[in-house]
Amino acid sequence: MARSYFCPHCRRLLNPGTKVIFLVENGTDRELMLLSAKLGEYSVVHSRSMKFEEGKIYTFRCPMCRSDLTSSLDEKLVDILTESDDEVMVRVSFSRVFGEQATFLRAPDGINRFGEDASRYEGVNFFGETADPENGEG
Ligand SMILES: [Zn+2]
Repeated sequence: MARSYFCPHCRRLLNPGTKVIFLVENGTDRELMLLSAKLGEYSVVHSRSMKFEEGKIYTFRCPMCRSDLTSSLDEKLVDILTESDDEVMVRVSFSRVFGEQATFLRAPDGINRFGEDASRYEGVNFFGETADPENGEG
């Protein structure tokens, strides 16, 4: 059974089939892009009329609510949600730089990293949005 992915804004399912569907902005054009639902696999499906440049950053949007999915942690990443084994929603971040292979799955005990370019994001604090007990009042 394939993993399910959800939009963090409207919470709708992004992969009704085997591929995860995004609306990707390329200049003034918008097209659907289909990515593998398997973490660490980087096959990309898009229409032949759409030309993507290696190393260029693209804006990924939810195909349903059209929210910009750019990560709040790093502007080169996209954030979506997936269900963990115990059915808790967790964040999956992946690079929105075309051709870059980096994916991060939030796990209870840390971050699972996928892709040969994941090391480029060593400096990103994937727990940055969670409450930091050291900054609490007492
Ligand atoms: Zn949405």
